[in-house]
Amino acid sequence: MNKYLVGAENSNELTSMTAADLANKIHSREVSSVEVTQAHLDRIGDIDGDLHAFLHVGTEQALAAAEDVDKRIAAGDIPSALAGVPLALKDALTTTDAPTTAASKILEGYMSPYDATVTAKIRAAGIPILGKTNMDEFAMGSSTENSAFGPTKNPWDIERTPGGSGGGTSAAIASGEAPLGIGTDTGGSIRQPAALTNTVGVKPTYGTVSRYGLIACASSLDQVGPTARTVLDTALLHEVIAGHDKFDATSVDRPIAPVVAAAREGASGDLKGVRVGVVKQFDREGWQPGVLEAFHASVAQLKEQGAEVVEVDCPHFDDALAAYYLILPCEVSSNLARFDGMRYGLRVGDDGTRSADEVMALSRAEGFGPEVKRRIILGTYALSVGYYDAYYLQAQRVRTLIAQDFAQAYEKCDVLVAPTTPTTAFKLGEKVSDPMAMYNFDLCTLPLNLAGLCGMSVPAGLASDTQLPTGLQIMAPAFADDRLYRVGAAFEAGRG
Ligand code: GLN
Repeated sequence: MNKYLVGAENSNELTSMTAADLANKIHSREVSSVEVTQAHLDRIGDIDGDLHAFLHVGTEQALAAAEDVDKRIAAGDIPSALAGVPLALKDALTTTDAPTTAASKILEGYMSPYDATVTAKIRAAGIPILGKTNMDEFAMGSSTENSAFGPTKNPWDIERTPGGSGGGTSAAIASGEAPLGIGTDTGGSIRQPAALTNTVGVKPTYGTVSRYGLIACASSLDQVGPTARTVLDTALLHEVIAGHDKFDATSVDRPIAPVVAAAREGASGDLKGVRVGVVKQFDREGWQPGVLEAFHASVAQLKEQGAEVVEVDCPHFDDALAAYYLILPCEVSSNLARFDGMRYGLRVGDDGTRSADEVMALSRAEGFGPEVKRRIILGTYALSVGYYDAYYLQAQRVRTLIAQDFAQAYEKCDVLVAPTTPTTAFKLGEKVSDPMAMYNFDLCTLPLNLAGLCGMSVPAGLASDTQLPTGLQIMAPAFADDRLYRVGAAFEAGRG
């Protein structure tokens, strides 16, 4: 087996176990959190020089947190179901004890004065944070190649991308550098890298996980979510991070969907009575044959497990890409205005001879990468007088039509399914000079974010033509996140 993949011969047994199994062993004191955390730090030390999943590894902090939770467990106090199991955190979430850069030069070395709510929940759950993972700059991209600090490699083939923007987290999970990870999904950044690395990734319903302390990309689309190697592990982490937060104005005050119970129920593999809709628009001739073949085999398997499968028509999904790549830049152009070289991070040319405007211009010119600049310019243009109605408003209307397509589809089915991506992992460098090709790769994941619903990517086998991972995307209505876990766990059990 490839030395970068989880369970490789060069790795410690502790780095190939599920988070649920590790938690059991730690809580029964068969092994300590310090040992488990150290094993993962060693794995990072061994292979991350090649993979570059991490931008920052917090060795001392992780071990201190592990020691602390070991003491609590010894005293009979187990703070959560995942206490003691270490985690990789996307560098878009603030941490007081490690730099937060969102993979941008403009924030290089930036230390946040506060922890994101999700960071704080992870700490309170007794989960040691191994470090901060690589991503596309400000979460804009589909390959982590837009990171100002160099790309992450896919452990399945290090000449290929692990996807993006959360490629760092997914590569860490797939390689056994971490059993748990946190990502953010604005247009697919959790689900898409999960699909390309054979891991599980979930974008929870908008408003159910706090965005406080998440460096904003597009605020009406961004959502923090869990990743791991199994559906149950992902569910356990989901319950740690979800919940109402008064510091996030879009946070919803309602009970967390019972995702862990749903994952356990799904593990029986029985899907009798579950209605699954296959999205016609995402079962397209011309996509990679190996991906479609794996998808059709997945649908056949769901049927065998008792699901009732119907085809659903969502005509406006064809316009999701155009709408997304207008709405997102508009929000980006507003959100990123705060990076002005005055308040945070990089400041260029402030030598006493230049005006504040000149310093801002120089700082932004040097601090932002080309994709971020492209989107700021595009968004500023689309929001300007005379264009607002033609572009932004029109895109918002399309957004409503997409939400209506979903609503109609859910009258007939409990969940929808589609391939997570149109192809398996592409080569590093292949799409960097062609933004449209890069955007097109997000086709299957964007509609869900525009409608604010929830989705999961679960491993669906290797494509026969490339021998690389594919993902089955499961989508569910708002606040029905538990359905993802019920169906995802059943599918995982059915695959064996
Ligand atoms: N690839 C998409 C983009 O570039 C999605 C990114 C994300 O989900 N953060 O916008």
